[in-house]
Amino acid sequence: MFKFLKQVSDYAKHSFLAGRYIGQGLSVTFDHMNRRPITVQYPYEKLIPSERFRGRIHFEFDKCISCEVCVRVCPINLPVVDWEFNQEAKKKELKHYSIDFGVCIFCGNCVEFCPTNCLSFTEEYELSTYDRHELNLDNVAMGRLPYKVTDDPMVTPLRELVYLPKGVLDPHFLPPDGNRVGLLPSEILEQAVEDINDIKQ
Ligand code: SF4
Ligand code: SF4
Repeated sequence: MFKFLKQVSDYAKHSFLAGRYIGQGLSVTFDHMNRRPITVQYPYEKLIPSERFRGRIHFEFDKCISCEVCVRVCPINLPVVDWEFNQEAKKKELKHYSIDFGVCIFCGNCVEFCPTNCLSFTEEYELSTYDRHELNLDNVAMGRLPYKVTDDPMVTPLRELVYLPKGVLDPHFLPPDGNRVGLLPSEILEQAVEDINDIKQ
């Protein structure tokens, strides 16, 4: 008798949990039924990449000291630093630099650890090619800066979710006075400087 009652109680408990999980799943479905679809009409419209977006890396040839730190910190030793030792000047002379973006995982180690800051991320993400070898960019190709989404007259820039005012989900219909949620990096910096000054006083 006791065993039977326990089976009934377990059955009721599992039925209740199953009902709850189905309800949770359906609540997400119903929530989405109330929203309008947001379609970015690429390539006529493009989202503005976020401030720390890791796109194709930019390289400044004149700043590179051929130290090869970028190669050592890269998880796959990807950057190719081709240098020669100049006997007269007693220092390394960079001849050629390249990164294969078909293999790069955009982890950012090379950018982070480069002692002269000659590497930096750009917002370029349109890297598709018909031949993967075309993604092996040399110092000339890496020295080119991409066109910003906001500067391109052919493109309508749309704000990403992080830049939208609170409660707004569709970047097509923004209130004219709608400022983004949160602070701009420059405002965060100003605040940090003020905080440091307050601590010093
Ligand atoms: S870490 Fe920077 S300076 Fe050193 S070789 Fe790489 S790109 Fe050049
Ligand atoms: S981003 Fe990462 S994987 Fe790509 S070259 Fe730099 S360190 Fe290597």
